[in-house]
Amino acid sequence: MYLRDYNYLVNQSCLFAFNIWNIDSAMAVMDAAASEKQNVILQTSTNIYERLKPVPIREFITTYSNKLGIKTWLHLDHCKNMELLFDAVDSGWDSVMFDGSALLLNENVKLTNKAAEYAHSKNILLEAEIGQFHGTEEDICVLNEQIARREDIDYFSKNTDVDMIAVAFGNAHGQYKAPPILHYDLVEYTTNKINVPFVVHGGTGMSQDSITRLMSINGVKKINVSTEVKLAYRQGIINAENGGLLQENKFQAINVEDKIHDAIVSLVCSKLKMCRW
Ligand SMILES: [Zn+2]
Repeated sequence: MYLRDYNYLVNQSCLFAFNIWNIDSAMAVMDAAASEKQNVILQTSTNIYERLKPVPIREFITTYSNKLGIKTWLHLDHCKNMELLFDAVDSGWDSVMFDGSALLLNENVKLTNKAAEYAHSKNILLEAEIGQFHGTEEDICVLNEQIARREDIDYFSKNTDVDMIAVAFGNAHGQYKAPPILHYDLVEYTTNKINVPFVVHGGTGMSQDSITRLMSINGVKKINVSTEVKLAYRQGIINAENGGLLQENKFQAINVEDKIHDAIVSLVCSKLKMCRW
């Protein structure tokens, strides 16, 4: 396999991927990564992708991360729309996820292969998903946890050629209401069957112990954090209000932006420190 930077991903110990929604949130995540001297993945949901200008943000992220001296990967997450996925590939994003997890398995395989074929023709990596993650994340809402079945993993491994794999193993989107029961054995089973980087969705609120254990499994290369980035943004606004910055006579947009930036940096740094175990 000679896809762009595939070996870079494989050779990393493990990377965190943070959801972003504009230039400012992207900058905050990259600033945090630079201060921790780590590389990082930025990703968007599909509804954010549709609001962004995918080529200018691609160019900005490349320029800014070069300036910081880190490597930043740009990923489209949970895409169910083939046209949008092709657009991200054409816009030079580094990787795209085709999410066929809600489909019947053979349909998921068929469309995953279609997405992979197009992505590979442009040297872009493709992530696929087996089993559905409980919880809500923007346009995704799954009420029943569906742990991936081993026979589905076997079938997928024989019939697809993907570069990253996400499997439902007890993880969930959004915030965990109780500590999740994570099926680490299923992660190990998958990485043995499908020898490509394994992606952990639902990193928000996962304990250090869970993160450490997941990272110790050979093949776990990407851990996604979305909800906590948005909550950090919210915390920044609260901090601005608590500091009196929202009072009309003191209000300066840039001062509020600074509080938001600092809150996101603080969250991202705390996550990246989890890599040092
Ligand atoms: Zn996800």
